[in-house]
Amino acid sequence: LAKNKAMAFENVLQMNAGKGDSSYANNSVPQKTSILKTRPLLDDTIKDMFSDSFLECLEIADLGCSSGPNTLLVVSNIIDTVYDLCHEKNHKTPEFHASLNDLPQNDFNTIFKSLPAFYEKLRKKKGDKLGPCFISGVPGSFYSRLFPSKSLHLVYSSNSLHWLSQVPEGVEINKGNIYVAKTSPLFVFDAYLKQFQRDFTTFLQTRAEEVKPDGRMVLAFLGRSITDPTSNDCCCLWDPLAKSLHDMVAEGLVEEVDIDSFNLPIYTPCKDEVKAIIQTEGSFSLSRLENFEVNWDVSEGDDDKHFDKNRSGEMVARSIRAVIEPVIACHFGYVIMDRLFARYAKHVAEHLAVERTKHYNIILSLKRNHCLTRAWSSKTGCFVNLI
Ligand code: SAH
Repeated sequence: LAKNKAMAFENVLQMNAGKGDSSYANNSVPQKTSILKTRPLLDDTIKDMFSDSFLECLEIADLGCSSGPNTLLVVSNIIDTVYDLCHEKNHKTPEFHASLNDLPQNDFNTIFKSLPAFYEKLRKKKGDKLGPCFISGVPGSFYSRLFPSKSLHLVYSSNSLHWLSQVPEGVEINKGNIYVAKTSPLFVFDAYLKQFQRDFTTFLQTRAEEVKPDGRMVLAFLGRSITDPTSNDCCCLWDPLAKSLHDMVAEGLVEEVDIDSFNLPIYTPCKDEVKAIIQTEGSFSLSRLENFEVNWDVSEGDDDKHFDKNRSGEMVARSIRAVIEPVIACHFGYVIMDRLFARYAKHVAEHLAVERTKHYNIILSLKRNHCLTRAWSSKTGCFVNLI
């Protein structure tokens, strides 16, 4: 049952496709800001990787790449850093093989069509000194195997790992809410945490097979700043959406029972929860664990003089709609989406006028431990460790 539920969800989840007004491609500035904020840790991780060895071909994967201006930004950042590093050390750059992964529904065609221009830009910017770069698409869930054993040097993922593989079992009792909220029964907190523990453990186990010994992962995703699961960091984003749906019940546009049976397949962990899973799973050691914040209405900056709650509310509604619409519409129907997100913009504006809550991001740099496999040696008459 759980497997069917996860598979059904994979077919629904995608960011708003295309290049229209409500597309992810046109509304992903907060995520772009967060990618830029991951750059220092990504650069340090790459420098560390290249500190004592140079590779012939650097095998990279970006998991949850989506389709839009952010998709090739990460690969481009990695190439820039490696290029500068090799230049500094008077070394030939490696060849690059970058695998872009997302769920099969993702708009891979748009990515593929943009590749010739991307290669051309690289050639113009870097000339012949840059080793060849090969980009491929890998459709599938990152909660399953995606790559051959021990084939990757560097795995990157931003803004994706807060998506669970499915809605946790049993959370239908979370009546009236669509995510963990102050009025949620205790069971709901527990069910969400357990689902995240299961999913993130599976993610680490599957990557552990695919990443080479000493290979790295840089992972950034939404989290919360405190252990309380009803922290403002996450709940304040979804409470106004639940409120908007309730408004529409009053207008006869949404059924109460549909709100009762809907819960978001997202979890925003705190640092200790993440740390504990990594330690228990055991395949990776945690080199760094940091956090940064991104404004919900990212282009507004922190300047209170120019803060306009309605404009900010609309901006937040557009960015959240781009991410969540397919999942919400599949349950409530597409017809109400314009009205729903117009209301959401108003409720968010009211919230922002009182508190400028921000997206709290967790970022990790992990290193694959050497896996010691023991084998019997008839020569020495004892077990030996194979690396
Ligand atoms: N990395 C990009 C896109 C983030 S949007 C950026 O930072 O802007 C989140 C992406 O994660 C979506 O495209 C979604 O389809 C993808 N995603 C969510 N769950 C996934 C899973 N289990 N496997 C692969 N991709 C997943």
